[in-house]
Parts: sequence; structure tokens; C-alpha cells
Amino acid sequence: MTTKRTQIWQIPRGSYDTDGDLARNPKIRKAAAIIKQGGLVAFPTETVYGLGADGLAEKAVASIFAAKGRPSDNPLILHIAELSVLDQLVGSVPQSAKHLMELFWPGPLTLVLPKLPAVPMITTGGLPSVAVRMPNHPIASALIKAAGTPLAAPSANTSGRPSPTRAEHVVSDLMGKIDVILDGGPTGLGVESTVLDCTGPTPKILRPGGVDKEALEDALGTCVQLSAELGKEIGSFPSHKYGHYAPNAPTAVVLGEPQGLFENLAAKAQELTCKGEQVGLMISRETMQYWQDQAVDFSHWQVVVMGSRTNLAEVGTAVYEGLRTLDAHHVTQILLESVPTQGLGFAIMNRLLKAADFWTVGE
Ligand code: AMP
Ligand code: MG
Repeated sequence: MTTKRTQIWQIPRGSYDTDGDLARNPKIRKAAAIIKQGGLVAFPTETVYGLGADGLAEKAVASIFAAKGRPSDNPLILHIAELSVLDQLVGSVPQSAKHLMELFWPGPLTLVLPKLPAVPMITTGGLPSVAVRMPNHPIASALIKAAGTPLAAPSANTSGRPSPTRAEHVVSDLMGKIDVILDGGPTGLGVESTVLDCTGPTPKILRPGGVDKEALEDALGTCVQLSAELGKEIGSFPSHKYGHYAPNAPTAVVLGEPQGLFENLAAKAQELTCKGEQVGLMISRETMQYWQDQAVDFSHWQVVVMGSRTNLAEVGTAVYEGLRTLDAHHVTQILLESVPTQGLGFAIMNRLLKAADFWTVGE
């Protein structure tokens, strides 16, 4: 792959008010022109940064897989900004899916639907269905509208690494491999969209994310299934196809309930320190408070506080950056605090377990 001269263009929040403003923004227009010519542009969404290309152009989509080092059978999500585009992309849309679009779009919900021939096979990894979402971020929607084509956009990281929640993370993974990075500051949610398969008789969650199962069930008034793979994950057995979100150091998730969990984290870290490991931990504010109260000596450990156990939205925004921070400190062993699996916690635990390749301790 030839090296590209990646340009970084800042579009700070506060420098624009509405979509209308952004559509005239010269950086958005230039980025859209680059996409139309088959180029690669990283842009912020409300979940994580996406790496966008013209999702209907085979060559452009091929260059996404090359830049990320992503296996070619791992399908991409098409990002749209207007509902009217859907008619060209997907065949029959069940009433339930239409209802979910009305309620959750723009937002962190991806729907898998039967694809029409306009969507190339390379975009869907060879599948007869296509995943579509409408992101809720003014830069993302302005870029998609200006490009005039749906953007295939996986997370803008090297395949297998933690997803990028800041432009800096995109720089560290993809500098020299893509054309432009639109820096719109940190993303909001920090965890990717929920992927919901709407091609069968019962909607099925393929990936937990920003919209939780309970919210989908409330909206539909029926039950929503979990994919067989996710069902197994709850029991913490490795069942995934691709490595994901992984820091460089071996990583384990520490299970348990407060206070046993808080004590377990310290005990396990101490045990590893005694074995000569450089230990990094990602813990909650509650654990940190408990350690301070109990005079635990954590001075030898690299500690990242990911937020409060009572505010999982805060934890969601911090998880990927926390994993990258621990990597940057070159620790040799990472311990991650588990979180309760209600609501957004289910998606967060899914990412933590994948980062740890399903290695758990405690309980
Ligand atoms: P990413 O691009 O990294 O956000 O990942 C996209 C996710 O959507 C992956 O987990 C894919 O497996 C899933 N996905 C995309 N398209 C389809 C599809 N047609 N059928 C099933 N899953 C899909
Ligand atoms: Mg990804």
C-alpha cells in the first residue's frame, strides 16, 4: 500500500450551529469531494470515529479493508443521512424496522436488512443483507449529504485495536493510510451502535451497543433475541470470530460484586506485581475510593479511572481511551473491572470481555 499524506482538519464544536452551516463548510466540501473520488475520510459520529468511503464503489470499499487490515468477510455498515436513500439500498423493510427507524434514527442503532443489487458484495462481506444506520452527529450527516452517497464506515482504527473516540486515536492507527481526518473532538457515547438483524421473523441483536435490548423490546412490544454468539458470551466462553478492542498486554476482566470486587482487583494486582509484572488497571471511581479508604498502596500500578459504576454512560465514553492509555504506559498485564450488565452495561461488558479475549478472574 502506498503511503498517503493524511491531512487533519479541525471542525471544533461551537464553530457551527446546524447542518446547514456545515454543508457550506469548505472542509466538509473538500472531504466529500475526496470521497467521491474514491478516497478515505475519518469522521466523528456520536459513537466512535468512522472510516468512511463511498459504500457503493467497490474500489473505495476495498481500500477501507486494506487501510484497517480488516478481514474481507467482516461486513461494513452503510451510513445514511436521509431516509429517502434507503429505497436504493434495501428491499422489503418490515414494519417493525420502520418503527425502530422512526424512534431511534438518527442514533446508535444499525439495522440489517435484505440488500438490493446497488450495494456491492464487497460492502456486505458477501452477504445478501446489508447493515444500515443514520448517525446522530452534525459532521457525519453533513459529510454524507455532501458526498451524495451512503458511506461505508467501520470504526477508524487498525482492525483488532480499541475503537477511536478521539481524532488522536485515528492518527495513531491510520496516519499515512487514509486521506483526511475530520477532527470534531471527542465522540459522545464511546461504544458502537447496536446491530439488529431484521431479516428473520424475530429481530435479533448481533452486537450490543448504544440502544439496549430493553429499549428495543419496549419500542416493539415484543421480545428481541440475542445472537447465539452473544448468548454464549454471557457465560464468558470465547465464541467470537475476530479479535477485538485488544490492548497489547495480556488482559483479564475481574468479576464480582462490590466490595469483594474492589478487594479482588487489588489482591490480583498485588499478586501480579509480586511476579514482576508491570500492572495496569482500569477501575471505577468506587474502587478508587475504597482503596483510598482502606489505604491500599496502588503507587506501583498504572491506574485509569473509567467513571462511576452508577453512571455507565460515563464509563462508555472512557473505555476505549482507557485501554489505549494503559497500552501507552507499556504495562505487561492489564486488569479490567467488570460492570453490571444492565442497560448500556451489557454492551460495555461485551467490549471488556473481547478486549480480554474472554479471560476472566474471580467469581
Ligand atoms: P464495525 O464496522 O467495526 O462497526 O462492525 C460492524 C458490525 O456490523 C460487525 O459486527 C458486522 O458483523 C455487523 N454487520 C455489518 N453488516 C452485516 C450484515 N449484513 N449482517 C450481519 N452483520 C453485519
Ligand atoms: Mg470496529
